[in-house]
Amino acid sequence: MIRLLLIGAPGAGKGTQAEKLAEAFQIPAISTGDIFRHNVKNETELGKQAKAFMDRGEYVPDSLTNALVRDRLSHADAIEGFLLDGYPRTADQVVELDDILGAQGNKLDVVVQLTADTDEVVRRLLNRAIEQGRADDTEDVIRRRLEVYEEQTAPLTDTYAARGLVVMIDGLGEVAEVTGRILTALAARGFSPKN
Ligand code: AMP
Repeated sequence: MIRLLLIGAPGAGKGTQAEKLAEAFQIPAISTGDIFRHNVKNETELGKQAKAFMDRGEYVPDSLTNALVRDRLSHADAIEGFLLDGYPRTADQVVELDDILGAQGNKLDVVVQLTADTDEVVRRLLNRAIEQGRADDTEDVIRRRLEVYEEQTAPLTDTYAARGLVVMIDGLGEVAEVTGRILTALAARGFSPKN
């Protein structure tokens, strides 16, 4: 079992790799972005509050985001292990996650940082905008999302590196190739899928 966090710029391939790793380890992939999008689509109260921030490429306030994650991590399927994709993204969220896991007597095992250069990331996000019609994938919003990532989320790598949790993985290449790199790095830390 593994408690894993995937961190990386928008477009670095977190969502795609999250699915592969969740399948390999038989753990839930918890994506705050997916949960927000689901709520926006269904026009829930949370969705209505989150939408304005998402459409501008800004982060949804911690008050909304933290409550959502606290609730999701208390579900039975996440008690034995999980993969978090897109959370934490701010220093306050790191504190909150420590608190949530600490209360369960748990902690993170590994933080995988997926790297990709900015040109590649913008190219991928523009492609995804065409394919999926995501409102937060217009060029201006993409640029804003990358800025917010650099300001607020990139520094979290240092926090987790100081705890010895970070493995850096090159996110460029075929999906299966990148998954292979991650699995190799996790195995080196003693975490291998059961089958
Ligand atoms: P993602 O699909 O992970 O890129 O998330 C899409 C959007 O959802 C982000 O641009 C934010 O507006 C919002 N979001 C997702 N996760 C978080 C988070 N941990 N904190 C704040 N906002 C978030």
